[in-house]
Amino acid sequence: MNRAGEPIGYPGEVRQVVNDTTKRDWLEQAARLIILSCDGDPDKDEHFKGTPDRFADMFLEDFIPNGTIKEALEQMVVEETYDQMIVVRDIPIRSMCPHHLLPWFGRATIGYIPNGKIIGLSKITRAVEAAARGPQIQEAVTDNITKAMQEVLDPLGTACTIEAVHMCTLMRGVKTEMQRFSTSSTLGVFREKPETRQEFLVLSQGGQSLSW
Ligand SMILES: [Zn+2]
Repeated sequence: MNRAGEPIGYPGEVRQVVNDTTKRDWLEQAARLIILSCDGDPDKDEHFKGTPDRFADMFLEDFIPNGTIKEALEQMVVEETYDQMIVVRDIPIRSMCPHHLLPWFGRATIGYIPNGKIIGLSKITRAVEAAARGPQIQEAVTDNITKAMQEVLDPLGTACTIEAVHMCTLMRGVKTEMQRFSTSSTLGVFREKPETRQEFLVLSQGGQSLSW
């Protein structure tokens, strides 16, 4: 903390790009303050020793944005004459809601109809991971995936559905048990032609359902 009570390196009014060392400082301070707010002692209680460090690692490794969806997709675009619908089902997705900073997680399904270019399957998984990093609402993640697919591959159309469970609905407010939240986004022929959308829905089903 500096004398004004702000975290060290706090950008104040000016938003600026900060490096990972500064982010680590902030995250460790945030974890310490949360522990102190819960009447814990981050220095003496053995269970809290190392928690600020682990908290920062978790954010830096798994949650903080580290590249765009387009960058993930562009790594493996291949010319291909196959022109039928491709559906990749049950891609694991995990993110964090911006309203409560609590995790949401589930599965994404992406479909597209190529127009001369296809994408490696592993890159679709990477793109979903890139899309989900950072605190974001599920609707925006769903939309951002289809927009990036359209921009990078220029297919005849793209569709994405995400089914997820949000920890904030489990832990706060109505505390609904395992309520699932579904979002979908369609562009190109998936939006224009009901029969294409229907084919996507048929191919999307039959996958493993959410269970844990
Ligand atoms: Zn929330």
